[in-house]
Amino acid sequence: MIGGRGPIVVQSMTNTDTADVEATANQVAALARAGSELVRITVDRPEAAAAVPRIRDLLEKKGVDVPLIGDFHYIGHKLLTDFPACAEALAKYRINPGNVGFREKKDVQFSTMIDVALRYDRPVRIGVNWGSLDQELLAHLMDENARAPQPQDSAEVMREALVTSAIGSAQRAEELGMTRDKIVLSCKVSDVQSLITVYRELARRGDYALHLGLTEAGMGSKGIVASAAALAVLLQEGIGDTIRVSLTPEPGGDRTQEVVVAQEILQTMGFRSFVPLVSACPGCGRTTSTVFQELADKIQGYVRDRMPEWRETYPGAETLNLAVMGCIVNGPGESKHADIGISLPGTGEEPAAPVFIDGKKAMTLRGPRIAEEFQHIIEDYIRTRFSRDAANAEPTQQAQALPVDGADVPTPVR
Ligand code: SF4
Repeated sequence: MIGGRGPIVVQSMTNTDTADVEATANQVAALARAGSELVRITVDRPEAAAAVPRIRDLLEKKGVDVPLIGDFHYIGHKLLTDFPACAEALAKYRINPGNVGFREKKDVQFSTMIDVALRYDRPVRIGVNWGSLDQELLAHLMDENARAPQPQDSAEVMREALVTSAIGSAQRAEELGMTRDKIVLSCKVSDVQSLITVYRELARRGDYALHLGLTEAGMGSKGIVASAAALAVLLQEGIGDTIRVSLTPEPGGDRTQEVVVAQEILQTMGFRSFVPLVSACPGCGRTTSTVFQELADKIQGYVRDRMPEWRETYPGAETLNLAVMGCIVNGPGESKHADIGISLPGTGEEPAAPVFIDGKKAMTLRGPRIAEEFQHIIEDYIRTRFSRDAANAEPTQQAQALPVDGADVPTPVR
């Protein structure tokens, strides 16, 4: 469910050729396993439309039931009509009003797509993008603006055209019989301030469910930061029912990164929990080895790998807060705020790592197997706290064997 009081839904999009059934099914499965709750696939030609039901079948064989959204441009009306099995296999259709047809064909082709959605009882996303904005509408608004006594600048007219295109198309879909709860709107731009302005206006003018995303966000940290900056402002204002982070993967990079980032935006803002969060200090001149970074990295990877099983067995484990800290300065203090925290020894400190559980020092780890022992402590804690039958849970042998001492913090040995 998208919208209303439902949780904010994470979605993603494949970058495979949809006609390649195996490659697309594999990527959809990877995105779903990473936590994508909806996956959009390109449906751009007859071969792709023909592949959609086969992708659905293959996913079912893999035990993946994530809903698929078909992304249509230019010939969506034809593909959805000519390939009824595709229309049926998709859970939602994305319609771009800027690419649905031109002049007199526009309404006919848009209406055809809405008719198919009504026939199969599917929702639609009316997805406007400033890279493919309805040029007739834009030209009309530009002309009107030029005649106005106090014309706005062209960027404002462009933003108005985005919102008008989305709301106007949604109203047309309603005239054709689609109910409002089956319509999701998006207006994607690649500029953070424009995105915020446009979505505030969309939210002000209607109560449609909104899909948020900064389009063409870019690669690496730029894409992540720009998406987080834009989405955080809107989500904080209660705007947005589903999100996608449109990252450009590095060559050969992992497509699932966009899912992880979307989850982390929602979780760090406190809207949803997906996987235990690991707080870690940045390190400084007091950290003279890479042990602390390696441990933080290992634990982050470990909890993400273990989460699919924990989700089934220990519901609530995703709300856990962990801390991996580099030294005595902030280590014990930060660790006490986490459910489980570990403070590694910094320069000049005794080679011991106190572990804090629920704010109290519980034990001290030493030696080369700190990472493994810390993982056992996490497992044990989760089993004890989140098991449906927590009262009967026994501590693991490993946890029983861990040294427990009563000292507060390790003593600097300088
Ligand atoms: S906790 Fe210690 S190692 Fe980490 S940043 Fe602070 S002073 Fe540096």
